[in-house]
Amino acid sequence: TSPLSDRVTVMQESATIAMAKKCRELIAQGLDVINLSFGEPDFQTPQYIKDAAKQALDDGFTFYTPVAGIPDLRQAICDKFKRDNQLDFQPNQIVVSTGAKQALANAVMSLVNPGEEVIVFSPYWVSYEEMVKLADGVAVPLVGSLENEYKVTAAQLEAAITERTKLIMYSSPCNPTGAVFSREELGAIAEVLARHPQVYALADEIYEYINFVGEHVSLAQFPEVRNRVITVNGFSKGYAMTGWRLGYLAARPDIAYACEKMQSQITSGTSSIMQRAGLAALRGGRASADEMVAAYRRRRDLVLDIVKDIPGFKTPTPSGAFYIFPEVSAYFGRTAPDGRTIGNAMDLALYLLNEALVSAVSGEAFGAPNCMRFSTAASDEKLAEAFRRVKASLAKLA
Ligand code: PLP
Repeated sequence: TSPLSDRVTVMQESATIAMAKKCRELIAQGLDVINLSFGEPDFQTPQYIKDAAKQALDDGFTFYTPVAGIPDLRQAICDKFKRDNQLDFQPNQIVVSTGAKQALANAVMSLVNPGEEVIVFSPYWVSYEEMVKLADGVAVPLVGSLENEYKVTAAQLEAAITERTKLIMYSSPCNPTGAVFSREELGAIAEVLARHPQVYALADEIYEYINFVGEHVSLAQFPEVRNRVITVNGFSKGYAMTGWRLGYLAARPDIAYACEKMQSQITSGTSSIMQRAGLAALRGGRASADEMVAAYRRRRDLVLDIVKDIPGFKTPTPSGAFYIFPEVSAYFGRTAPDGRTIGNAMDLALYLLNEALVSAVSGEAFGAPNCMRFSTAASDEKLAEAFRRVKASLAKLA
């Protein structure tokens, strides 16, 4: 019998990571695979941030830090919330973590009791559901409609809340759909939450800076729910710092303290060097992000322009992040040149990997089995070539 716990046995491996593995195998065989399965900026981390990390090393800043982060960084995060989001936090409301991922996990583990329901706006980021399972909670996916760019509505939320509901979780801008909630939409969601005082909200704003519509709205901006919102953000996407592993959350003091306690028993404070780098990043403002956003927007437009001529792809226009998320079920039941049938989005992803040498992820892991996610975080040339190949390969399906 297996020595492994039930906890890890029921856990899914991240689908994006699994696809990247297959993709690397083909690349190792010498094939020219274009990898659009990862959620990773293709930009370098800005130089001034790298310099701050080097400086931290030269200063000998190599010791344990406070669990929730160095005071300067917690203050700089408060300043960022004030500047960008008009939100007032004190440093004791901020917990710095090893990536936004740990901030999300801290919050779920700190709020959810066994059997409590977590409404996960769907399509959702792959890890949400597994985090809820880890906390022995019950993930309740709430699916937005394609017509509404997959955004869950306030009416849908109202109908889904039960007396067991503890938390809602969503990202805006959304991974995988790129949808961005407007002030009106989030205000309506806040109104619903105001009527249900036992329900908390985990707002994942990691893609805040990668926004093509302009206004980023935080759920915590609505006074009636401010005390029940945990806002998560970080450095991975906006500052192209995925490998640095630095993120944070802001919450009311008792919740922040609980997250700090959780983290104190698992990882302690995140790397001292990375915290100094994060401090420099925030002090540098968002100019570097704005340059990247211009490129992401250009690439989105370039990709949408090719994709609009692919029959059977129904692709909402993303308002942020760096993905497109077409509905592809028109291809289910078709036959590949080798006689194999495309039964679902996973089959289609594998077909495209082998035939077009383009790696993308099936929507299954995002709670949307009729969709596929393609990252648009690659060079213009690679994107143009990738979608030209995708289009040609799809045309071979009978
Ligand atoms: N939240 C969303 C929606 C993401 O897409 C990601 C990364 O892909 C994360 C959180 C995790 O960010 P980090 O790399 O800071 O842990």
